[in-house]
Amino acid sequence: MICNFKFGALFNVLKITKLKILSFMNKFYITTSIAYANAAPHIGFAMEVCQADALARYHRMKGDDVFFLSGTDENGIKIKKTAEEKKIGTQEFVDEISAKFQLLLNTLNVSNNDFIRTTDKNKHWTAAQKLWQKLAEAGDIYKSEYEGYYCVGCEAYLTEKDLVNGECPNHKKPPEKIREENYFFKLSKYGDKIKDEIESGRLEILPESRRNEILNIIKGGLKDVSFSRPKKVLDWGVPVPGDDSQTMYVWCDALTNYISALGYGESEVHALARNGKANSYRLKPELQTLKPELRTSKQSAKNFQKYWPADVHIIGKDILRFHAAIWPAMLMSAELLLPKKIFVHGFITSGGQKISKSLGNVVDPFEVADKYSVDALRYYLLKEIPSGGDGDFSFERFEEVYQADLANGLGNLTARVLALAKISNFQFPISNQFPISNFQTTINEVWEKYEDTLNNFKLNETLNIIWKFIGVCDEYVEKEKPWGLEGDRKREVVFNLLESLRQIAWMIRPFMPEASDKIFKQLFTDEENRKKEMNKNLDEAKEWGKTEFINVKKGESLFMRL
Ligand SMILES: [Zn+2]
Repeated sequence: MICNFKFGALFNVLKITKLKILSFMNKFYITTSIAYANAAPHIGFAMEVCQADALARYHRMKGDDVFFLSGTDENGIKIKKTAEEKKIGTQEFVDEISAKFQLLLNTLNVSNNDFIRTTDKNKHWTAAQKLWQKLAEAGDIYKSEYEGYYCVGCEAYLTEKDLVNGECPNHKKPPEKIREENYFFKLSKYGDKIKDEIESGRLEILPESRRNEILNIIKGGLKDVSFSRPKKVLDWGVPVPGDDSQTMYVWCDALTNYISALGYGESEVHALARNGKANSYRLKPELQTLKPELRTSKQSAKNFQKYWPADVHIIGKDILRFHAAIWPAMLMSAELLLPKKIFVHGFITSGGQKISKSLGNVVDPFEVADKYSVDALRYYLLKEIPSGGDGDFSFERFEEVYQADLANGLGNLTARVLALAKISNFQFPISNQFPISNFQTTINEVWEKYEDTLNNFKLNETLNIIWKFIGVCDEYVEKEKPWGLEGDRKREVVFNLLESLRQIAWMIRPFMPEASDKIFKQLFTDEENRKKEMNKNLDEAKEWGKTEFINVKKGESLFMRL
């Protein structure tokens, strides 16, 4: 048996080597923040997952071994109170909300490998408790009396300084005054070390403005943070190991998701299972919305070894301090490696105003995707909202961008090039037997900028670069007027356009996977040929003039005109 297994494994290794993906594969672990399961998903979270997805897809295109995680944060007193108001069980409530988030990811073609839920007792709780224990063993957790203000709405302790006229400025309600026994985490101990990590660039915070912001906070001095609450006030969360009277406060619970999903704490799961204590909650089958082909092994203790540390955490600007101060301190205390990068995005306003229910300007990502197409929404969020900055959503602007860039830009070029190829009555295949064209130089420059901007998380600039190139192709058509050309000259011009379109389909692939597929289907009508194209690695895909177009066919338009 053992022998057979070994031969099987060896055979697999040989097969993989043949596919050239074994030895030089880099791992790339990317996460979104976990969405708070208190309300349906909003447009800001849609942007975050699209940004992460574009990066994950880009790294897969480069041949990296990508693990892409998203999830929902399902614990906390606010969630329990909302469920009570809605008169449903708390678990039922978070199941519903979490399913909506998973549906959003599916709808937006987000290629996450896993989705972690912090009510997952099997995978998540054991990891959170293990991490807590590590911090306690390091002497970084202590019990103390806490006295102060607590806003249930914010789920945060407020100081006198935070209050406006004695009220929480966000919720316009006086906070609760509380006095209680809590566990504290010695965050103050790690300030200098974190500063050093950030200043040295070992922990990179992007964009620069956010790096400066967190450095200023750290230089101002980090105070120890309250790490638990008495169970009598917070009884929807992870129990503190060894103390039944306390529940973990958000830090050790939520932040741990980035390692619990990778199987940190898995040996503890096995121990629990043996004792018959594991009580894993599973999604109903109809809510299991993760795409099976994108799942990696869930036997994941190995995943922690393989993928940690995170290559990048993608987060919103409101949770910078938690991710760039508390989380690194926790990891240091547990002697775990720090994430390499934290990329911070801004907020989306709607028609220039803060998005809020009371203003009636909430943008429902499902509705937009349904009305204009998923790719159109992805494009808007990635191009119109500057990566790392704030941006605005309005239907007026959305339709402008849709019309100009998608219907008249990419969509029109695709239709034009394929129509030209069709009316030219060529004998296919058509391949590059022509003198080196300017396109070859141009395309190399485009790809260079493409990779440079993506590696620096400037996704909107990447899209600008692609659309500039689309403009170059349009000008080329106008200038050459291929419909009036004859013979080889005509073949050359049409070839250059087909080859440009093929390269554009690769470039947009991380951003608009459906539109990319549609172009490939028209350029490679034969399935075998299409497969051959899709199996290319990025370097092969980028090579100008090496592809034969055997048969092309104008198909459905990429973006319907409005
Ligand atoms: Zn508040």
